[in-house]
Amino acid sequence: MPSWARAANPACVVALIHPKSGIAAARPTSNPQTMQIKSAVFVVSARGLTDCPQWDRPEFAFIGRSNVGKSSMINLLSNKDALAKVSATPGKTRLLNFFLMNDRWSLVDLPGYGFAKTAKHEKFDFNELVGDYLEQRPNLRRVFVLIDSRHPPQRIDVDFIAWLGTTGVAFSVVFTKTDKQSAAKTRSNITLFQASVAPQLAGEPAILASSTKTRAGRTEILRTIDQALTD
Ligand code: GDP
Repeated sequence: MPSWARAANPACVVALIHPKSGIAAARPTSNPQTMQIKSAVFVVSARGLTDCPQWDRPEFAFIGRSNVGKSSMINLLSNKDALAKVSATPGKTRLLNFFLMNDRWSLVDLPGYGFAKTAKHEKFDFNELVGDYLEQRPNLRRVFVLIDSRHPPQRIDVDFIAWLGTTGVAFSVVFTKTDKQSAAKTRSNITLFQASVAPQLAGEPAILASSTKTRAGRTEILRTIDQALTD
């Protein structure tokens, strides 16, 4: 099944933004309860695929540009104020940081992506390790790509999503920091983003909106994970 079909599968996604209206619509889910996070434990920082945990735990990866709000989101999801601090400690920012949640699934904090400045032009670039992980890790169930909702589509995010679409990995796009502007502005930026990625993907990506200030999106992300765990 292509990634977009998995990503947009109504059974997997709780809140979607309608492509035309830009309005978030609640969808029924087989599990209306939000997953409770009872434990969140740092496991390991991996510098290569061979360092990744040798386990059969399903993994859910989080990625986004620096300052997008990834650490805040990981802390919000885990209900721990400093969980993501582990990933920010010197030497770990370029590694894959694995956390074990509820002794059942793993949250993987991935290094961000950027543009490598070459002599002639800017080239889309991310840590080779991230590419290996996203393309080859059998445990990976879904990627949550965080994008700052305050801005119109940025080329780097569009390029990353387009590439991710080619991997066949299921993904959701999470628009962060929605508390920082009006709902209309958020909707407008999301609609612009959908229009930007549409020509590059075979279907519509699953989209969520979040704020660590209001806790918006937490339930939807956990439900998406919970649903994937029971599939
Ligand atoms: P990271 O670099 O992606 O890990 O980003 P951080 O989680 O460190 O967040 C960067 C900055 O944005 C910090 O000052 C956060 O307090 C702030 N921030 C993150 N998420 C939100 C949000 O949802 N709302 C608001 N208002 N600020 C946020």
